[in-house]
Amino acid sequence: MAVFSLSDFADHEQVVFCSDDKSGLKAIIAIHNSNLGPALGGCRMWPYATEEEAVRDVLRLSRGMTYKSAMANLKLGGGKSVIIGNPRTQKTPELLTAFARALEQLNGRYIAAEDSGTSVADMKFMSAITGHVAGIVDKPSDTGIRSGDPSPATAFGTFIGIKAAVKEKLGHDSLEGLRVAVQGVGNVGFDLARQLKEAGASLWVTDIHRDALTRAADELDAVVVPPDAIFGLDVDVFAPCALGAVINDQTIPQLKASIVAGASNNQLAEARHGAELMKRGILYAPDYVINAGGIIDVYHERIGFERSALIRHIEGIYDNLMEIFERARKEERPTGEVADAIAEERFKR
Ligand code: NAD
Repeated sequence: MAVFSLSDFADHEQVVFCSDDKSGLKAIIAIHNSNLGPALGGCRMWPYATEEEAVRDVLRLSRGMTYKSAMANLKLGGGKSVIIGNPRTQKTPELLTAFARALEQLNGRYIAAEDSGTSVADMKFMSAITGHVAGIVDKPSDTGIRSGDPSPATAFGTFIGIKAAVKEKLGHDSLEGLRVAVQGVGNVGFDLARQLKEAGASLWVTDIHRDALTRAADELDAVVVPPDAIFGLDVDVFAPCALGAVINDQTIPQLKASIVAGASNNQLAEARHGAELMKRGILYAPDYVINAGGIIDVYHERIGFERSALIRHIEGIYDNLMEIFERARKEERPTGEVADAIAEERFKR
């Protein structure tokens, strides 16, 4: 199988294939760019149907991390890792130990954090073998001590990002009376919805889990709608917080919201959908800019956690987005394109 000639290969610095017979480990670690610092990114465990699928995923995701960290002004590069296998049946202590040893061999050039199929507990387990894992420190929060889970920081950053988008598109500083549709009220979506509610917004929510919806309806007075109905609601903001590729040829014509701003990764099915949103006058807050709270949280854990410094850093998402919106307006370009250009200016410098 080719690697250098794959369309997802983007001048990656290093791609490491790791295997361990005894534990069955098959993993790939990709370091896209380390100009700004060590490459930090999640470790995903997934039963990929083919090796090519795994390679493409790790190449694409690691590149995305370079842009996300550069945009968030972190002294970090972009990396990601994938373990091929089913996390429910194949994630054993032996396998995690073998993976932690592989991380150790990279000497800190790549730092792993939790992702789909891995957990804070897995990172804590591996931290006994290697120091090159992150998202493991329990931290103070509004509601007591929270684990290394970055979701509350992601939700806070997304809330700040929605404020920036509302300022740009609607000219308001306040969210009082804002109508927001939240797709997915899981870890990030629920916490985001709570902050929006506290700021005076009205909420419409959807999810595929009944418990999540009942909680949002009971605690946040949110109106519950079926999954397919979330796109066409007469709201100001559509906030995708469930899955990727939700802005596509089928959903764009349904949107009545004038802002798309949420926490999901890879919201645009294809880059051209960013241009399509612009054509329709819909302001898009680029996903990796607005959802950077989690990586900022993990970064602060590594530089010595201080809560007020973390909050200030996450609040910087507002200015980052304003810079993007302003440039996109002046240059008449899609916001996603402008965000990529700014990130490249930062990490290629
Ligand atoms: P989560 O699994 O806790 O929540 C996702 C929610 O979406 C779940 O409640 C799930 O039932 C629901 N969902 C799944 N498919 C759906 C569908 N078709 N329609 C409606 N709801 C659906 O995940 P999370 O940690 O809250 O992350 C949400 C999104 O934000 C993901 O795309 C994730 O990649 C992204 N993100 C998360 C973080 C973080 O810190 N957790 C950081 C950056 C980006």
